Amino acid sequence: MIISLPMESPLYSVRMRASCNGQHISGAERIVDEVAVSEATASLTERAMNCSTGAADEIHCSVERIERANIRYARLPNVSTCLVNDWQEGRHVACCLLGRAGIQNNIAERAVQLLADGAGPGGVVMRGAVIMNARTGERLETDQFRGVRATRMDISPEYRPVMESVLAAKGLGHHRVLEALVLAGKVLGAPGFVAELCWSDDPHYTTGYVADSEGGYQRISVLKLAGDPSGGRILFVDRSQTSFEELVDYLERQVVLFSAAGTISSPAKWISTDE
Ligand code: AMP
Repeated sequence: MIISLPMESPLYSVRMRASCNGQHISGAERIVDEVAVSEATASLTERAMNCSTGAADEIHCSVERIERANIRYARLPNVSTCLVNDWQEGRHVACCLLGRAGIQNNIAERAVQLLADGAGPGGVVMRGAVIMNARTGERLETDQFRGVRATRMDISPEYRPVMESVLAAKGLGHHRVLEALVLAGKVLGAPGFVAELCWSDDPHYTTGYVADSEGGYQRISVLKLAGDPSGGRILFVDRSQTSFEELVDYLERQVVLFSAAGTISSPAKWISTDE
């Protein structure tokens, strides 16, 4: 059945967060047309019930109408994939890429170690991102359990099927790739943004990335050992370019929809030009 919608039909932000025994285990979101709200809610709930770490015992879904006038449209970052032999090489590459983004090596190494150790209090995985002063390595987030969560971003509903098939054709059809690409795309537009480092806390998903405005979304094939439950995100920011409040307001509230792709390069072995 083909449903035709008036051009200005409303869009909705559908967000899910799930926990088990008080511990955050899953969070995801979509921005969809009104006819797709219940399907999106069902699919996000199903994801929470089928988490690799076990079913959730508490799931919160929220649905919020978005004012079209508040939407910022953007292009997705370029995608590249760096093939490494093991997580040690992967972490070395991550530090080199952060170095290219202007982060000093000692700060990059500390950041990698922070994710490996668990950036939350007592080494727990955080629900959101660490915000780090790119020059000093100082942490800026006020709540180190939660961190800061980037929300209200997605591929535009019209463009999503195209983007999904483009990524699938390149062997990047895993939903995590699209979601991380969208998140990286949003944070790249943040005031004062310098770079992002991420690897998943899913013990079975060992690929991670470094994102910055020059290199785009730079995947690194292995950043941890299979079975390792560590993971997280660090956003490096230039404090002279933004206030913490302005940054958080953008990350949490600005609606960003992606309606065009960047380039997608074939996976390639890491060749250092920096050392
Ligand atoms: P994931 O890639 O979904 O496995 O998430 C990896 C880590 O990134 C999580 O453990 C959180 O610390 C962080 N994170 C997940 N989603 C967000 C988000 N929307 N905004 C900021 N940080 C996030």
